[in-house]
Amino acid sequence: MTPPPAPGRILGLVVEGFEVYYDPGTDQFAHAAGLFGTRRIVVGPRWLLLPPRQKWALLLHESAHLRAHHLLERILFATVALPLLWTPVGRWFGGRQELQADAFVCRRGYGVDMLQFLVCWPRGSDGDYYPGFARRTAAIEQRLRESEHDAAIA
Ligand SMILES: [Zn+2]
Repeated sequence: MTPPPAPGRILGLVVEGFEVYYDPGTDQFAHAAGLFGTRRIVVGPRWLLLPPRQKWALLLHESAHLRAHHLLERILFATVALPLLWTPVGRWFGGRQELQADAFVCRRGYGVDMLQFLVCWPRGSDGDYYPGFARRTAAIEQRLRESEHDAAIA
């Protein structure tokens, strides 16, 4: 059995221009961290156990959050509209970011893998900030159908 990587940077793993770090203390599979020049992807022990293409789908998803400066957007949104954060407006805002990141994964050809990940690890109903399982999977399935249609008529 391969030992887990040392905490800190996983050397050589760069996704869409962002380095990937290992945090043995996080219970998240992966998340985007940092602002501007410190933006990076952080993965935890659960990410290590995923099938390779699902690992890559999650890295692409997090890289999309970083490319679009979603964390900065969230900070600015919370700064100007904190009371709205836990309203339908705030949920729409957070959900928009998740669906954008999933759409990027689909454009890179890993939509099926993202879908498999979500099916294996369903998140349940809509939370304060994250769209629920049904909304995310429906959006990915729609994109997959559209790409099949595009391929069929090309
Ligand atoms: Zn996300």
